Amino acid sequence: MQTLVLKPDGQALEKAAALLRAGELVGIPTETVYGLAADGLNQQAALKIFEAKQRPADNPLIEHIAHMDQLKELIRGELPEQARALAQAFWPGPLTMILPKSQRVPQAVCAGLDTVAIRMPSHPVAHALIEKCGLPLAAPSANRSGRPSPTRASHVLEDMKGRIPLILDGGPCEVGLESTVVELSGDKVRVLRPGGVTPEMIEAVLGGVWVDESVLKPLQPGQVVRSPGMKYRHYAPKGSLTIVKGAPERVAGRIAQLYDEAVSQGASAAILCMKQNEARYGHRRVHPLGQRPGLDSVASDLFDALRLMDEQKVERIFAEAVDAHGLGLAIMNRMGRAAAFHVLDADRGE
Ligand code: AMP
Ligand code: MG
Repeated sequence: MQTLVLKPDGQALEKAAALLRAGELVGIPTETVYGLAADGLNQQAALKIFEAKQRPADNPLIEHIAHMDQLKELIRGELPEQARALAQAFWPGPLTMILPKSQRVPQAVCAGLDTVAIRMPSHPVAHALIEKCGLPLAAPSANRSGRPSPTRASHVLEDMKGRIPLILDGGPCEVGLESTVVELSGDKVRVLRPGGVTPEMIEAVLGGVWVDESVLKPLQPGQVVRSPGMKYRHYAPKGSLTIVKGAPERVAGRIAQLYDEAVSQGASAAILCMKQNEARYGHRRVHPLGQRPGLDSVASDLFDALRLMDEQKVERIFAEAVDAHGLGLAIMNRMGRAAAFHVLDADRGE
């Protein structure tokens, strides 16, 4: 199969909508990461996503909608009050809610669970496409399983070339990390996966929030998994990744030492550091994250940097930790998982 990459003009959107209505897959830009979209009401189309991604069958997809009216078809019963409040505050935007599913949601989309994950993306191309198709679109990230999520059309092409007919190139993704996933239970919500909508932002709306314990820790044997995606080792570069946390000068000192050891052992090594710390590493090979000041820019650079590490066949990657608050929690969750939560504390001499 030939894979076309098109700028999302009117004609390309028509083509994408026609493919989706015919049960085919299209790579689409969203504000979080690129999605691999299919007709969200079509079981056969959803199954194609699992095949193209080589995604385990028990890892459900997210339904993407453009209007609140589309919820009725997808959920069972009324929208809970907290869900309404969150939708009002954060939709369209990078928040996914887990809700009781209706009969209309194909079994493949929710991987046999009795709940469905729903999000209303803010990206104008995703929005226009959902409108044009007149369908909810089921879409996980458009990477092959085990690869970092794609934040540029070129990443989707790397992973999906020959597997899907069309990719819409909407440029780099604004957030660059997958959506925040929340489960509603009782009068609080639980964050199963942190993202662009932070726990602090949710707390400001609902007055309370839990963050699932698996967010910054590896799963323990026998631990209940609340979101199937959490049990897979996602976002992993081919090289080994070590994260170092602590006071900035100590972190830089420790990373420089680890880097020099790796190089002296003949390994190819690289450092992922904040842009403002670049000079601390002298002649060493650094890849700065965050072309602009602030964590937003670090988040949107992270997956591209991990892909680059693979492309350049880097064997030992050393990364500076960020403070795990606000958007920093999502960054540390993704970095942590890519590193199998191998984090050294420079302040404790680790
Ligand atoms: P992706 O869009 O590739 O990030 O994948 C969707 C994420 O949403 C995965 O981590 C899933 O485990 C999670 N997810 C989707 N549906 C559900 C659900 N019904 N319950 C819990 N987690 C879900
Ligand atoms: Mg994914």
